[in-house]
Formats: sequence, structure tokens, C-alpha cells
Amino acid sequence: MMPDRERIYRTEAIVLKHSDFGEADRLLTVYTPYLGKLRLLAKGIRKPTSRKSGHLESFTRTQLLVARGRNLDIITQAQTIEPYLALRQDLWRMSHAYYVGELVDCFGEEQAENYPLYCLLCEALHWICQSSNLPLTMRFVEMQVLNLAGYRPQLFQCLRCNAALEPIVNYFSAAEGGMLCPRCGEGQRGAKPVSLAAFKALRYLQTREYADCARLQLSQATLAEVEGLLGDYLVYILEHGFKSVEFLRLLRYNAHLSGASYSLNSRIAS
Ligand SMILES: [Zn+2]
Repeated sequence: MMPDRERIYRTEAIVLKHSDFGEADRLLTVYTPYLGKLRLLAKGIRKPTSRKSGHLESFTRTQLLVARGRNLDIITQAQTIEPYLALRQDLWRMSHAYYVGELVDCFGEEQAENYPLYCLLCEALHWICQSSNLPLTMRFVEMQVLNLAGYRPQLFQCLRCNAALEPIVNYFSAAEGGMLCPRCGEGQRGAKPVSLAAFKALRYLQTREYADCARLQLSQATLAEVEGLLGDYLVYILEHGFKSVEFLRLLRYNAHLSGASYSLNSRIAS
């Protein structure tokens, strides 16, 4: 990061979201490699003559020149590096990009560098452009976000008795941050039984590269179980440790993405 005295700085960024501001301006939330999350003002961007607008669409990877302002820093130049064009032609892919954007918005801190999270965001957008199994891709991204944000779920040892977990039905406790063995988990409030297939899938997603995970062949039931477990865990973390507004927005995206098969109510009730 440049010293505060510098009036102008340069950064790469991915636009996470934007909202209209004033007559012709837009307020952008972007994620950057070295400055974490930033809120920046793009002046005049809603005018038809704006030369910046095409370079500042949601989920465009862009090179910015930014002038420090009194309240908000102002984007003075923007140049697209990677437009992720496949997203723009496909609403289903785009809605997954919004979900990843929300995850990064929730877990990425303002003005706090998390370079691996930035790299994950870039890769995730690339995967979303190409994936033939978007739900599986999302589960991989969720697991990596949890790792990078310091909430890596414990999937190898029982969180209560430390016993190595056996390949049987174990239990998942969102409140405790991972798995419990049958002796410690059975009958415990908030601990859910996890099928062996889902248990193996979770471990695989946590320890393997994306290229391996993308080839996983999971049944619909197993994929739905993994989605439910990771979803419960994310909701638990966000509800207890994060800003409620962003948490609620994330919930809405979750419900939107999962459709009828996994309703908002079932997640809140569980
Ligand atoms: Zn135990």
C-alpha cells in the first residue's frame, strides 16, 4: 500500500457490486489483491458518453487509477484486464458469480490484504465461466473461502474427544466448527448425522485441487447433503460473527440459487 500522502494510487480490482449514487455516479464495492475490499466512487459513469462504464461492470477484472477523496476515493481511469465474457451471456452462470461475490464481500475485510482470497475470486469466476457442474464448483469455492477466512472445518478428528474419525456415519456441528464422532455427536443438539458419501466428499473438497474436485461424480443426494452442511456452517458463522445486513443478502442469494429443493426456511429452521 502506498503512503497516505500519495494522492493517486493504482490497483487491480474485481467489481463485486455497485449502486447508483447521485445523478450520474455509481458507488462500487471492489476486491483488490493488496488492499482488500474498497468502496470507490465512479463519477459520471451512468452518462451514455462515459468511457469507463464498460470497464467497471460487475465481475470485471480491471486495472484502476484511483484518486484519494475526502470521503470516498474516486476512480479516474479503468482498463479491463479480463471481462469473463461467458458470465455475461448466461444468467445462470452470472447468478453464481453473484453468490461468490457475496461470499467475498462477507468474508473479505475492508482495507485488509488477503491476496489468496483475491486469487480465489479470480479463479472462481474463471471456473464459473466453464464449469459443467456449477453446484459442485460452488461447494469447492465455499470450502476454500472457509479455509482462507480462518474457518476451516475440522473433518479429520472429533472436535470433542480428538479421536481420528472413522469411515462411518459421523456428525457435523456448525457451532463447534466441524465433525464429531458417533459417540460424541449422537443425540447432541445441532449435530447432524453425515452420510459416508458426504463425509468423503467434504474431505475431498477440503484437501484436493479444483481440477480433481471438478471431476468428482456425486449423486444428487450427496451433493445436496454437502450443500446443506456447508450452507448451515456459513450461515452459522455469518450470523454469529459478521454484519447482519450482508448476512441477510447472502441468505437471499443462497435461497435464490438453491430454488425449491433447498428453501430458506429449512435452512433457518435447522
Ligand atoms: Zn468424539
